[in-house]
Order: sequence, then C-alpha cells, then structure tokens
Amino acid sequence: MQIPPIDTAHFENLGSTVEVALSQGRLFTPTGRYALKQFHFHTPSEHRINEEYYPLEVHFVFKDPAGRVAVVGFVFELIEAGSGDALFENILSRVHRIASPGTSVRVFRLSFGHLAGHLESNPIYQYSGSLTTPPCTENVAWYISSEPISLSVKNFNAIKHVLKFNSRYTQNIPGESNLLEVAASELHPITHEVKPVQHELK
Ligand SMILES: [Zn+2]
Repeated sequence: MQIPPIDTAHFENLGSTVEVALSQGRLFTPTGRYALKQFHFHTPSEHRINEEYYPLEVHFVFKDPAGRVAVVGFVFELIEAGSGDALFENILSRVHRIASPGTSVRVFRLSFGHLAGHLESNPIYQYSGSLTTPPCTENVAWYISSEPISLSVKNFNAIKHVLKFNSRYTQNIPGESNLLEVAASELHPITHEVKPVQHELK
C-alpha cells in the first residue's frame, strides 16, 4: 500500500459511514494493481480476529481499471492514556464537526507512511468476499491487518457518537449497497471471522 502525504481532503458524513475521499494511493497485490478511492469507518469492527471484536475498524477501498475492488482494513484498540496513532487522532479529532449526514469538514496534513509500514510488518488476513449476492460476480479482495492500531478513548467516543452502530453494512461500498445482505443482517448481524494466510502486499 502506497499513499503519498495529503495536504488536505474532505471528511464527509454519508449517513451510513464517515469517509475521506482520496484520488492518490495504490495497492499492489499478487493479483492486481489498484487505485485508492476512499477510506471509511465502522463501529464496532466488522471483522473478528481470533473471535475478538474491536471497537472500530477502518476500510481503505481500492479499485483496479476493470472495476475490481480490494479493501485493506485495520482494527483499532483503545489506549488508556495519551494519544494513539497520529493519522487517525488527527482525522477523528474533527469528526464532531460532521455529526449530521451530508456534512463535511476538511482534514489536513495526512501522512500514511507509518500505516503502510504497519501493514507490511504484521501478518495479514485475506479472504475473498462478494460485494453483492449471486448471480453478481464481482468479488472483493479483503486484506485485514492482524495488529490493531491504537486510538484514544476521547476520539473513539467522538466517532461512536456520530456513527452509532454501522458495522452491519458488511462489505457495503457507496453506490453498491447490498439490500439483501442488509436485510439479512437485520436477522443475523454479519461479522467475518478471518483466518491467516501469507501475503505479499505492497
Ligand atoms: Zn467498510
């Protein structure tokens, strides 16, 4: 995952999630080359690692020229004192400004180098999941870092107040909502238990 430093970007409340849209950033996997479109958040986490869920999860959504989607996800763990990861503390310190759907705020000086390092230096869980139910054939390649990112309680509470509970929309990409899955999740909240595999991800 390669994302250059960003001077400024829009952080927007879409109703279903809060999202930062970006036009720079790449992901190289064994099966493709993808361009970053956006990253967004879920609380609580949509993935469980060794059956453990986490308070927050971020999804970096990439597409290749053919429209195939790859998502890189990180879960968060809260720290008891001080500040956590500088990138996400920076972004989430402004989430209270976009409490209403349709609102947005600018975020500044985003640096992703350490996040790419975090991804490359820890085991990655991978699986393929369909964005939509059959007969749709579009598959999403999911890559989930096994090692949580740290976040302060203060900024976790801030984003939780805005998102409430939005982890049921599993694998939902804006513009490609999966109504059957959403409806099914009303009956059975969907989470993914992920299994470890080895991967080359750059
Ligand atoms: Zn997501």
